[in-house]
Amino acid sequence: MTHIDIVRLQAEIDELALISENPPPVVTRVLFSDADVRARAFVKALCRDAGLSVREDAVGNLFARWEGADSQLAPAATGSHIDAIPNAGKYDGVVGVLGAIEAVRALRRRGFKPRRSIELIVFTAEEPTRFGIGCLGSRLLSGALSPEKAVALRDNEGRSLDELRVRAGLNGELASVAIKEPGRPRPVVFIELHIEQGPLLEREGLPIGIVEKIAGPSSYRIRLTGEGGHAGALLMPDRHDAGLAAAEIALAVERAALTSGSADTVGTTGVFRQEPNAVNSVPCAAMLEIDFRDTDLATRNAAWTRVEAAVREISARRGVQFEIEQINADEPAHCSPELVEAIVAVCADLGLPAKRMISRAYHDSLFMAQVCPTTMIFIPSRGGVSHRPDEYSSPEQIEKGIRVLAEILARYAG
Ligand SMILES: [Zn+2]
Repeated sequence: MTHIDIVRLQAEIDELALISENPPPVVTRVLFSDADVRARAFVKALCRDAGLSVREDAVGNLFARWEGADSQLAPAATGSHIDAIPNAGKYDGVVGVLGAIEAVRALRRRGFKPRRSIELIVFTAEEPTRFGIGCLGSRLLSGALSPEKAVALRDNEGRSLDELRVRAGLNGELASVAIKEPGRPRPVVFIELHIEQGPLLEREGLPIGIVEKIAGPSSYRIRLTGEGGHAGALLMPDRHDAGLAAAEIALAVERAALTSGSADTVGTTGVFRQEPNAVNSVPCAAMLEIDFRDTDLATRNAAWTRVEAAVREISARRGVQFEIEQINADEPAHCSPELVEAIVAVCADLGLPAKRMISRAYHDSLFMAQVCPTTMIFIPSRGGVSHRPDEYSSPEQIEKGIRVLAEILARYAG
């Protein structure tokens, strides 16, 4: 049996958590911050120490490779991210990076010799904090984000991706990042180990989740312009209240999600602003930001079409002007059935009960699924909590996840 050195790994997780923009237990590592740059150096040193050769692409995606006997074969890849949103915890992303390094060390200890290379990918900026766009590194790798669009990205202080990456020591053309281009080396499979960030595994007392689908997020901004006026003087029949139009639209979003025919459709009006936002004034303008997700693109699109129809109807009835802007739309990912089956078999061999799951949050795997057969291994999150300093998975839970990861990597690389 593969022995996982969970004591050493936990110490490394704890040490990486101290590389943060905030004092412990808070972890904050925003892309290209001092903490992010130091954390990258920490991970690179661990990779080299584990005998991996390390290279970085132009956006800072890190590739750490255990060279297989046959260098012609595409690598079996794993990986995740080490950036963290403000006030986060120490397990999101990190389990899949440091855990993969421990998987490699464990395979070495048992004398495993890869025929196919094993590659750890540490993706740049899975979190959207700096540029407002999640999965920057894997989007560029998969070609879902063009280099031209990436170059145009600015953070909220007006600094460009180019300026910040060069300052962090990353050179080369962003156009060279995409691995989906013909002739560039794609992995044969990609498997991401990650905390669940939801309550299901803990609730059901299961150690392992195997992801079959990843919900695809889309987001929209709706601006409404009505007519304001004095809350006392402007009589009800004469009103074009932008706030009430927005309120009706928020309810239409909920209705469209509830009646889509799929329990996987979720619609959220997370931003709701109106102007002038004064107690004695009829709202003259409103702005909504809406997040809409599903595991099935056609269902999501059909539900959103109903929201758009509702926006037209509500605006016309209330005499309000509207503008709909799509902020983002990513396709859901369907994980590789063969890969999922292979991990189901690994879990059975290891005696670990496993559950097939949907990932409702998105991850770098959403984009890796566009590159090669992909899936994710989930481990339980205490209370389903994540993106908080108290997010927690126990050493025993992490250890089981790494055993599954090590074994599936060995099967593809052996
Ligand atoms: Zn994550």
